[in-house]
Amino acid sequence: MTLPDFLPGTVWLVGAGPGDPGLLTLLAAHALAGADHVVCDALVDARIVAMVNPAAEIEEMGKRGGVAGPKQERITARLIELARAGKRVLRLKGGDPFVFGRGPEEALALAEAGIVFRIVPGITAGIGGLAYAGIPATAKQCNSTVTFVTGHGPDGDLPPEVDWDALGRGAQVLVFYMALRQLDRVAARLMRAGRPAGEPVALVSRAATPGQAVRVATLATATDLLADPVLPSPALLVVGPVVGLRPRLDWWPPQ
Ligand code: SAH
Repeated sequence: MTLPDFLPGTVWLVGAGPGDPGLLTLLAAHALAGADHVVCDALVDARIVAMVNPAAEIEEMGKRGGVAGPKQERITARLIELARAGKRVLRLKGGDPFVFGRGPEEALALAEAGIVFRIVPGITAGIGGLAYAGIPATAKQCNSTVTFVTGHGPDGDLPPEVDWDALGRGAQVLVFYMALRQLDRVAARLMRAGRPAGEPVALVSRAATPGQAVRVATLATATDLLADPVLPSPALLVVGPVVGLRPRLDWWPPQ
């Protein structure tokens, strides 16, 4: 198998998956070994950062759980600057760079600047992280659709562009990213949109890391989970019948 050369003056936007280094793609591992400069997101697992070429420089730039990080324009300007200096630039992001990851914004800026780039998809938390929690994104007996939603809108509010009534009626399984802070409002809004109070939900915290913790509740009791100190960010909220499979599919930590 031949993997593409990581050429000087180019930027690879690479997804690092939800945590477990074993979930990296071969292309991601190749990029980690070949990079000169890594611009790393706050979500990337420390075990993955430890795999970076020891000669490479590592710079942390990214937001975490809504906490103000470097401005997006500063990040893109930095990527362009490094590429123009002839570096092999690895922009490392948690999960998949094109799923709630600001990857498109960064790639658009690179394209506009005439910088050659490559996108290396990663396993997104809403699929791989769920699998580590014993919750399938789809199961034949449960759902034929799955919807990824961000719980994070401007000013820490619910995202205004989400059609909550449609999510109440039509969406079978919902996977919320960045929903921890808004959990009470998300749950209330979904019930108002017609979802049953007794519908099963799961909070999946730090999936695919040694600190993984999963708690199951119902829409009506979801906010009680916030009192649980073992559920820190990052976390996903899963709503729908697939959560009911977890008692039989919970395999983590492996025996
Ligand atoms: N690009 C990433 C998502 C970035 S948005 C991806 O594809 O996974 C950040 C949100 O992702 C977090 O608020 C959380 O909801 C989710 N997330 C990322 N890593 C996670 C993990 N290991 N466990 C649980 N949720 C995670």
